[in-house]
Amino acid sequence: MVLNTTADLVAGLKRAGLKLTPQRLAIAECLAGDGTHPTAQELHQRLTERFPSMSMATVYNTLSALTRTAGCRELDLGGATRFDPNVTPHDHAVCERCGAIRDVELSPGYDATAGEQCPLPGFRVERIERVYRGLCAQCAKAA
Ligand code: ZN
Ligand code: MN
Repeated sequence: MVLNTTADLVAGLKRAGLKLTPQRLAIAECLAGDGTHPTAQELHQRLTERFPSMSMATVYNTLSALTRTAGCRELDLGGATRFDPNVTPHDHAVCERCGAIRDVELSPGYDATAGEQCPLPGFRVERIERVYRGLCAQCAKAA
């Protein structure tokens, strides 16, 4: 599992043509290396102490530029969109008790884009993403 670093995200912001303001840099730093799949709201909450004037629009615009330039990817698991600095193909395991979202590596050699059929006639598969739902190891032990 490789999470994009601050340098990767900063490069993405530059490719998107955005000026590297202190607020955008802080958003990039906050998301880089973060494997918890935060929402825009969560990132905003983490940063308002340092940047009381930071708007949600700034967070959304920055995340949108990062998504366009493959600095991160959007993750839709139901509820608010989450942001993932791991842009390599992988699946997710969601704990229904504590809400933790963990990366699940694809087995070696597994190609998430090929060789799989969709039962819908004529549907061309480009990507398959799995979501495992249940209890994480810690919650399963406590249950
Ligand atoms: Zn859990
Ligand atoms: Mn992930």
